[in-house]
Amino acid sequence: MTLDYNSLLLALGFSGACLAVTLIMSWAVARTEMFLLTWAVGVFLIVVYVVLYAFYVERPGPLLGAVCYLTLLTGLSALLGAARQFRTGRSPLRPALVANGMLIAVAVPPILMGYDGLGFIAENIAAAILISATAREYWLGRAEAPGPILGLCLLYASLAFGFLLCAGVLIWDGKLVLGAAPQNWAEDVSLAISIAGMTGIGALSLALNHWRAAARHRAEARSDVLTGLLNRRAVFDLCSPTPMRQFSAVIAFDLDDFKAVNDSYGHAVGDRVIRAFADELAAVAGRGDQAARLGGEEFVLVLGRTLPERAEQLAERIRASFAAKHILTEQGMLTCTVSAGIAFGTEAGTSFESVLRLADKALYAAKRQGRNQVATRHVRLVK
Ligand code: GH3
Ligand code: MG
Ligand code: MG
Repeated sequence: MTLDYNSLLLALGFSGACLAVTLIMSWAVARTEMFLLTWAVGVFLIVVYVVLYAFYVERPGPLLGAVCYLTLLTGLSALLGAARQFRTGRSPLRPALVANGMLIAVAVPPILMGYDGLGFIAENIAAAILISATAREYWLGRAEAPGPILGLCLLYASLAFGFLLCAGVLIWDGKLVLGAAPQNWAEDVSLAISIAGMTGIGALSLALNHWRAAARHRAEARSDVLTGLLNRRAVFDLCSPTPMRQFSAVIAFDLDDFKAVNDSYGHAVGDRVIRAFADELAAVAGRGDQAARLGGEEFVLVLGRTLPERAEQLAERIRASFAAKHILTEQGMLTCTVSAGIAFGTEAGTSFESVLRLADKALYAAKRQGRNQVATRHVRLVK
């Protein structure tokens, strides 16, 4: 059995239509990922192009040729816009319109004037440029999911190669006027690449979308809703597996007389105070440190690499700057204080849970000694 060119074109159109529907359905699940819609528009336009081009193969003419060209390049420009939207979250309109406008201005006049050979060369080069620019967008965002994105870049590059091949053969033939759709080996190769490429791109792009959604859910599960710091589970997941060695420390914090803040100013103001303290903590946490809200008005700062003096200075700095903070409420200005307890890892290694327990003991000592202060649990060396 042999398949003619038009049957293959229709196969490409059918797989594109299925992809466009899948994209719209994926978008409808959350209605947040707008790039899926832009992308569906692009794929839909390419499907329209494929159908129009199938007619053009049967009845070539300058007007239909120009419409085919416009539809293909607008579809590919939408794919470029969708890739930009995926990477940056910004509107796809500007890159899509700029690329589209420039490329259409170059090639539509020759097609309308009957130089369809020249027009097809321009169309193929313009398509290759748009597809390469799309691949570049994904490449720039490869850090998010290196595997699927590398696969996407390769597939887009192979599509661009197919279009360049078609342009190359037409240039080689050197005919400015064809009077029919170009039929040569490069067209067949390019069509085969397009069918395989579009299917692969569809699958990988949807996988990428799921990858992003899963990463977002993981981040949400790890963060505390009120403060954006790590939550209790996340800090235990991160710190429990490795014993805490020398030069690591845990600082436990508990806001002072916080019940009274809630009682006098209400729960909403209490929440603002909790957020204000979390901001202090986030501001001082360095790259190897973990700042977390354990629950209520209790926090922890785990210092990955520190000297005992630095840990004490840091805790003191947080205590002092929080005590100096004024929070404006309807009942006037409010200040609050915090107590802190510090404990250190050991040369032999101590579990995070044990160091946290010692830091908590130091914290209660700070509370007993009058609050608004830092207490340190010094390691007793057993000889
Ligand atoms: P102490 O100085 O001994 O720590 O006194 P305290 O009043 O702070 O005592 P405690 O730590 O036991 O009080 C914690 C209070 O924090 C009790 C609870 O009402 C309040 N709280 C817990 N979670 C939240 C929250 O998410 N928002 C607000 N606004 N309050 C909370
Ligand atoms: Mg407490
Ligand atoms: Mg408290």
